[in-house]
Amino acid sequence: MRILLTGGAGYIGSHVALVLLEAGHDVLVLDDFSNSSREAIERVEELTGRSIDTIECDLADQAASSAALRDEAFDAVIHLAGLKAVGESVAQPSRYYRTNLVSTLNLLDIMAEHGVTKLVFSSSATVYSPAAEGVLNLDESQPSGTGITNPYGWTKAMNEQIIRDVQTGRPELEAVLLRYFNPVGAHPSGRIGEDPAGIPNNLMPFVTQVAIGRRDHLAVFGDQYPTHDGTGVRDYIHVMDLAEGHLAALDGLRPGVEAYNLGTGDGQSVLDIVKAFSAASGQEVRYEVVAPRPGDVARAVADPAKANRELGWRATRTIEDACRDSWAWQSQNPNGYAGR
Ligand code: UDP
Repeated sequence: MRILLTGGAGYIGSHVALVLLEAGHDVLVLDDFSNSSREAIERVEELTGRSIDTIECDLADQAASSAALRDEAFDAVIHLAGLKAVGESVAQPSRYYRTNLVSTLNLLDIMAEHGVTKLVFSSSATVYSPAAEGVLNLDESQPSGTGITNPYGWTKAMNEQIIRDVQTGRPELEAVLLRYFNPVGAHPSGRIGEDPAGIPNNLMPFVTQVAIGRRDHLAVFGDQYPTHDGTGVRDYIHVMDLAEGHLAALDGLRPGVEAYNLGTGDGQSVLDIVKAFSAASGQEVRYEVVAPRPGDVARAVADPAKANRELGWRATRTIEDACRDSWAWQSQNPNGYAGR
């Protein structure tokens, strides 16, 4: 198939592009490069020996995106484009709602214009309601779309609803909502990886930047949670496993809308990650415990059984693999793509 991959130059998108190309699909990337790099696309081309068609366009611009895709043919869409920083979404809610919701609406219209019925959407474990997060492992039947603590998470929940409603009006639509847990790691070559702009919000890129000496120490957000060592527990999934989940989702599409967790089913604490990363990299990761971060939950771990069963997909890589691959990326690219 020829797959339209929105946000294909980003951290997850570049790994998805690689996996699609390696599976024999053709890839058309649409990206506005506002928080991503052309270099990532070039490196995927180098790694796969395949070329990627690329359109630079803001999907939230209806006229521009519709025109840019008018003469393009594609069989399926994987929609990853969007703004993704939780803290920024609290400070700039209008921008987050406008960008993330309008992009999806435009894309759904473009799909209808082109007669395309296959859609894989990048959702997030943040759609689960905080009440559900007391549950040991979250499955897809847990309540979602209420009590979300930031606009970013709301845009994911609202996009899920938009896709469900559009599918009701267009029953031939085949959609999968992939609820990502915590993506970490990089391609094992270390050629592509996560390159956050500014100070990283997420744990793993912060840890790798401490290890390389770009940051002095990690602030551990709270150590009094009811977890095995008091620090927050999450389900860290290797980005290559996550990318393979998109391929499995494409193969599993059928009319309707289905949500699937992409996670490992295992929980790791902040201190577990610090230890695993130190062991994998041979670098000390200095840290200091500070106050909990508002809005954080003690534990969020997937029950991935539905994806295992219905998509025939499971995460196979370990947290040690993820730490080793993150370090390969960070140590070969100390300043990300800008450092070339
Ligand atoms: N965390 C931390 N220090 C940081 C960033 C994150 O202690 O600088 C913790 C955070 O409190 C949570 C875990 O690491 O328990 C994962 O946070 P992240 O922001 O990566 O993902 P989230 O699960 O919040 O989406």
